[in-house]
Amino acid sequence: MKCRQCKSEETKVLESRESKDGLTVRRRRECQNCGYRFTTFERSEELPVYVVKRNGAREPFDRQKLLRSMTVACQKRAVSAKELEGIADYVELTASQRDDREISSQVIGELVLDVLRHLDPVAYVRFASVYRAFSDPEDFVRELQRLAQNSRFNKTQDELENSDSVQ
Ligand SMILES: [Zn+2]
Repeated sequence: MKCRQCKSEETKVLESRESKDGLTVRRRRECQNCGYRFTTFERSEELPVYVVKRNGAREPFDRQKLLRSMTVACQKRAVSAKELEGIADYVELTASQRDDREISSQVIGELVLDVLRHLDPVAYVRFASVYRAFSDPEDFVRELQRLAQNSRFNKTQDELENSDSVQ
């Protein structure tokens, strides 16, 4: 949200109040550059959610990117596209409920892992083994694809499946 006075992008939310129908959010903002305070009325479904990357950079939440990385982790596993959509919904909703509508890439990773842990242990390990090291989902997808072709990774996966059948 740009400052109306100096057009700086650096504004801080001082107060956030949702309307009764939940469709509008009234925000009191302060510009971090010039100190100007102003109020905005934003329609909640149009408000973007931002992802704060490990290096501090912000980018709009990209649902497709998240779905792609989860799809790669769930390759050949019994996790349906609908379940992945559900995880993406959950992440987006969690972020949109925060006052600043920002969520760190780490928190996204942990939210996804929380759900995957219950859905599929192999997909969980695939996602966990690489997600934490990456700030950019694109790098993450590449790394997962590389790992999927790596025999050591597949062995880990076999071992997991075996230990599963023992339980
Ligand atoms: Zn300003």
